[in-house]
Amino acid sequence: MADADERRRPLDSEFVMPSLRLDGQVALVTGGSRGLGLGVALALAHAGADLALAARTASELGTAAELVRRTGREALTLPTDVSSVAAVRGAVQRTAEHYGRLDILVNAAGINVRKPAAALSEEEWERVMAVNLKGAFFAAQAAAETMRAQGRGKIINVGSLSFEIVVPNIALYAASKGGLRQMTRALALEWAKDGICVNAIAPGRFWTAMTDAVFSDPEGYQSAVSVIPQGRPGVPADLAGAAVLLASAASDYITGQTIVVDGGWLISGGTLA
Ligand code: NAP
Repeated sequence: MADADERRRPLDSEFVMPSLRLDGQVALVTGGSRGLGLGVALALAHAGADLALAARTASELGTAAELVRRTGREALTLPTDVSSVAAVRGAVQRTAEHYGRLDILVNAAGINVRKPAAALSEEEWERVMAVNLKGAFFAAQAAAETMRAQGRGKIINVGSLSFEIVVPNIALYAASKGGLRQMTRALALEWAKDGICVNAIAPGRFWTAMTDAVFSDPEGYQSAVSVIPQGRPGVPADLAGAAVLLASAASDYITGQTIVVDGGWLISGGTLA
């Protein structure tokens, strides 16, 4: 129960603008080697954070780290398969050991198997769930241990517009991302008392390696953007504002929420092309 001092209504003159800067902070980004994860990593670096990047492909991690260093921030590369709980825990531990702290975790590693639900195999089910859901959970669990000891932390899960709507042939992906949405809310509730905020970003249709087959085909491009009110696919920099907000002190009273970044697709009714 709050004591009398804590219950005092603050004076208007006591307003202090919280900072969107992340100077002196450390962020671990899974899937930070390319695409949306790299976009988020660069946004956090521009805001002042040092980075640890985790993904499987070492060569792409090296290129991504160079881009982070060009912003003037440090980059640690951690070749990691997030579907292994031991590997995920190792990446979190190495980040905390290397920098001496961990303030921000971004779970951006993700895969999709796009096919009719009737044709999905058990192996595909386990592979997608292991990366999109299990990896994110155990990364969050491990990161929260360090954050709890520090008294604060920010966890950002990269979800998908399939938090809200579905299109054909993504039953498995949508199941994994739907789980991620509820996991975000459940962890936010449990860890609020520890000063840890857990939120999600739901990107709409972005042009990355994951969606290159659609967007590099002129007909596929037209069809995919025809449902987006802003008339173009998203690019990684479009996530920068949401990512920095959710990583910074400016969002300290926001937890368990999702910021949709989709050029207006959802408000248009989420219609299909
Ligand atoms: P992407 O370019 O294919 O990037 C995926 C990232 O995840 C890469 O860094 C990849 O590196 C990493 N990754 C995949 N499997 C991994 C594993 N087992 N262990 C560790 N890292 C792994 O795709 P993207 O579009 O940027 O997607 C990033 C996130 O955004 C995903 O969660 C995706 O679901 C989400 N998203 C994308 C869109 C879109 O339109 N593109 C829309 C909504 C949500 P390695 O392959 O080297 O491991």
